Amino acid sequence: MKLNELTLTTDYLDLDPLFFHEVAPTPLKKPHLISFNPDAADLIDLDIDSADDPELVPVLNGSHLLKGSRPFAMCYAGHQFGHYVPRLGDGRAINLGRAQGWGLQLKGAGVTRYSRQGDGRAVLRSSIREYLMSEAMHALGIPTTRALALIGSDEDVPRERWEKGAIVLRLSPTWVRFGSFEYFAQQEKTHPHLETLAELAIAEAYPELIGKKDRFFLMYEQVVQRTAALLAQWQSVGFNHGVMNTDNMSIAGVTIDYGPYAFLDDYDFDYICNHTDHEGRYSFGNQPPVAYWNLNQLKRALAPIISMDRMQEVLETFGPLYSDAYLKIMFTKLGLHTYTADDEPLLKGLMEIMQKHTIDYTLFFRQLSHYDGDRKSILALTPIPSKPLVLWLDSYDKRLERELLSHKERSEKMLTTNPNYVLKNYMLQEAITQAEQGDFSGVNDLLKIAQAPFDEHSHLERFAGATPVQAKNLKLSCSS
Ligand code: AMP
Ligand code: MG
Repeated sequence: MKLNELTLTTDYLDLDPLFFHEVAPTPLKKPHLISFNPDAADLIDLDIDSADDPELVPVLNGSHLLKGSRPFAMCYAGHQFGHYVPRLGDGRAINLGRAQGWGLQLKGAGVTRYSRQGDGRAVLRSSIREYLMSEAMHALGIPTTRALALIGSDEDVPRERWEKGAIVLRLSPTWVRFGSFEYFAQQEKTHPHLETLAELAIAEAYPELIGKKDRFFLMYEQVVQRTAALLAQWQSVGFNHGVMNTDNMSIAGVTIDYGPYAFLDDYDFDYICNHTDHEGRYSFGNQPPVAYWNLNQLKRALAPIISMDRMQEVLETFGPLYSDAYLKIMFTKLGLHTYTADDEPLLKGLMEIMQKHTIDYTLFFRQLSHYDGDRKSILALTPIPSKPLVLWLDSYDKRLERELLSHKERSEKMLTTNPNYVLKNYMLQEAITQAEQGDFSGVNDLLKIAQAPFDEHSHLERFAGATPVQAKNLKLSCSS
């Protein structure tokens, strides 16, 4: 359908006014379309050629409201870097309403009651990063919010330097966060709202639980399970989120709020992408325990409506669920389809070698997918010859003898598990620099590889190589 046929619903506004602030977006000056994503359009039954729809830019800019839309910001709290903040809320995101099971939201559309000292804006740099990364994660099979389109503008926005304002229209099954429950848990008089919020979250993210007697508990169980599976996927692909505050954790178990994230260049368990994270709370290797910590905060928030003991029991399944899921993916990445616990040392040994020998994480597994006994290209991945890697390949060869698949069959499977491309920070930075000079071809090139990461794109093959030395493992600022 066309944009002018799309009709949104706003059930969220039937909740108590404590939940939201109805607020109109503040349009940007001289907006222009940078990129449109037909895959996301399809999700909400929008024509995939809507890039040419004259209403697209005004809709993204909030100057034209879709049928049924009543824009609003949501109220939530959250633990930021371990410290409780009693009120956060959408300070620069404005919800438009829902269509086909997706909540439409503009990020960077101006101030709301929850903006605190912020200007309600998102800059071009961070909007490009969010737009591309959510599509990249989706194509890697990782649950995430999606992005319909990105606009830029002539609006000056102050950060460390002056930048231009931009807006991404993002989609999520629900925008309810762990922090949404934390907000209503802090005072006894708001506890009845926890049930209302749980009913809404179930309707949006877990419709199969609607009407079930034990639905609140089952929702918590689902959140634990989905979050464990999500973290296993993040870790296996080398994704560092960077700001795993409880307000950035989705109740639907999908990746939300892309900020100073990074894909690992060289494998580094201790890598910290967020330069304000001095303690490394949100380092790559710390993500699974942080997810557990966050689920524990959610448990505490839900205590007035669900038995603590039962939630605790479920929470304790997080570790085993995470480990099982992680090992399953990692053995698939290694091309082992008949793995047992006896294979764990093989994986552990490899990760230790990667950690010590500065090996590009994505490239290693991609090269291994082509491995047929000729070691040259794999051994070339370390800057100096690595004896441990030779020994590891000896054990790998031996282990492969017990696999039933042929080299060719194994390779074919591995090539659909180990991506040729992930969006590394240096690639994003290159596209951002071009975009800041008015050339958006880099953004749209990256969208292509983001959406087909297992393919080989001949004119973009340079992005399948190792990260240039000077651009490895950068840290990024949170200010966006
Ligand atoms: P984040 O860590 O980016 O998810 O943001 C944490 C909180 O700060 C959320 O409540 C955001 O809405 C708010 N926030 C971040 N940047 C801005 C901004 N430029 N203007 C207003 N609020 C913001
Ligand atoms: Mg956030």
